[in-house]
Amino acid sequence: METISVLEERKNQIYRKGRDAFDISCEKKSLAGSVSQRACVFCGSRVVLYPIADALHLIHGPIGCASYTWDIRGALSSGPELHRMSFSTDLSETDIVFGGERKLEQALLELIAEYEPKAAFIYCTCIVGIIGDDVDAVCKKVAAKTGIPVLPVHSEGFKGTKKDGYKAACDALFKLIDLNRKGKGKGIGIGIDKIPLSINILGEFNIGGETWIIKEYYRRMGIEVVSVMTGDGRVAEVQSAHRACLNVVQCSGSLTHLAKDMEEAYGIPYIRVSYFGIEDTSDALYDVASFFHDTPEIMERTRRLVQEEVKNILPELSTLKKDLAGKRAAIYVGGAFKAFSLIKALKHLGMEVILVGSQTGNKDDYALLKEMCEPGTVILDDANPLELAKYVMEKDAHLFIGGVKERPIAYKLGIGFCDHNHERKIPLVGFEGMVNFAREVHATVTSPVWDLVPGKAFNRAIEKERMIPHDAE
Ligand code: SF4
Repeated sequence: METISVLEERKNQIYRKGRDAFDISCEKKSLAGSVSQRACVFCGSRVVLYPIADALHLIHGPIGCASYTWDIRGALSSGPELHRMSFSTDLSETDIVFGGERKLEQALLELIAEYEPKAAFIYCTCIVGIIGDDVDAVCKKVAAKTGIPVLPVHSEGFKGTKKDGYKAACDALFKLIDLNRKGKGKGIGIGIDKIPLSINILGEFNIGGETWIIKEYYRRMGIEVVSVMTGDGRVAEVQSAHRACLNVVQCSGSLTHLAKDMEEAYGIPYIRVSYFGIEDTSDALYDVASFFHDTPEIMERTRRLVQEEVKNILPELSTLKKDLAGKRAAIYVGGAFKAFSLIKALKHLGMEVILVGSQTGNKDDYALLKEMCEPGTVILDDANPLELAKYVMEKDAHLFIGGVKERPIAYKLGIGFCDHNHERKIPLVGFEGMVNFAREVHATVTSPVWDLVPGKAFNRAIEKERMIPHDAE
C-alpha cells in the first residue's frame, strides 16, 4: 500500500476530511504524465450529442477518434438508430498534408443522400484543429445543398478538458434550436407560443431506458415533455425546445451551459435536479411541480405518485440493506452532481463512503462533498488510476462505483464494481432505479468471488468475526 506514491504536483488536488485544511485545487488542465481518467474535448461533445437518434454523426479526423467513441453510450432509441453508426472521414497522411475539406464535403453529401438524416453533426478532432480545415464553410455549403441543418462541433481534442467538449455540444444544440426559432428549421410549431405546463429535460441520455421512466413520471403529473436533450432524442423535438416553460437540468456539468443560453435568449428559467435515489428523485418532481404552482392539481398528483412509488420499493430496500450496512464504497464519476446523489443513496443503504472524486468538479462542488462526507473520506479531483488504487486499498473498500475506466481498477483489486456511467444496461434513475441500484450493489458486494482474491479472504474473515456480537457466539 505504501509503495504507491502521489505525484508532488497532484497533492493539492487531493483532500482528506479532518486531516487537511480545505483548499482543494480543481478546474485546471490535467497534469502531463499523470494519466488522467478524463476523456478529451471531442469525447465530451460526442457523449452529449450521441443519443440524437435521427441525426448523422460524422467524425472528421483519423479513424482512431471514431473507434474510441463508437457506440460510446449505447443510448437506447424508441425509433431510428442512425446514432449507433460511427462515421468517419478517416483522415490519413495525404489529407493532413493537403487538407481534408474536400473529403469532408464528399462524405457528407454521400451520407446524407444514403441515410436521409434530419440533421448532421460534424465533430472536429485534434488533427483538424492543427491543419486548420474550414469546417464551418463546408457545413454551410452542404446545408445549402441538402436543406438540412449541418452543424460543426468545435471539439478539437487538445484544446481543453472534457468540459470544453460539453460546451461545444451545447453550442451546436443551441444553434439547432435557434435555426428553427428563426424559421429555418422543421421543428414542431415553428415560431408559435409556449406550450402550457411543459418542460425540456436536459442532461439525460437514456443509457438504460432512464428517459422513458422520467417521462412517464411527468406524464402522470400532467406535464408535457417537449424535448429531452439528448436521450432518445429527435432533431424536430430539440428544435422545438424554445417553446417549453422550464428547463430541468439533470447532468449539470454537461448541459447547464445550454440552459443558461436558453434563459438569456428565450427567457426560459432552469432548475438543477437529480433523478438518482429516493430523496433526490422526490425533490426533482416536487421542484418541477412547485414551478407550476398555478396548477395545484400537479402538486397533488406528484404527492400521490411519490407516495405510491416509495411504498412499493421500501420492503426490498430494507432486505438488501441488512447485508450492505457498514460496507465501504469508493465513488469516482464525471460530474460531481452525480456524486452528491450517490452519497445519499449509499447512506440510505447503510454504507459508508470512503473515497469520492470527479473529473470536472468545481470548488463549490468539492466544498459540498466535504460537508456530506464523514471524517477520513478522501476527496479527489481529476484522479489517475494509481491514486484511485492507492486509496481504495488504503481504505479497504468493498465497492467501487464508476465508469468503464474504473472497472478494471476494481476488479484488479478484487472488490465489487457498479457501473454508473456509459456501459450499464439497466436504468438507475427514479424509484425503480434505486431498487436496481441496490440489487446491483448487493450482488457485487456479496459475491463469493472476492474471497478467492489472495489476502482478501483472511482480512474479510477477521472483519466478519469482529462484526459478530459476543452474545451471538
Ligand atoms: S480528438 Fe484528439 S485526443 Fe480525442 S481521440 Fe481524437 S486524437 Fe485523441
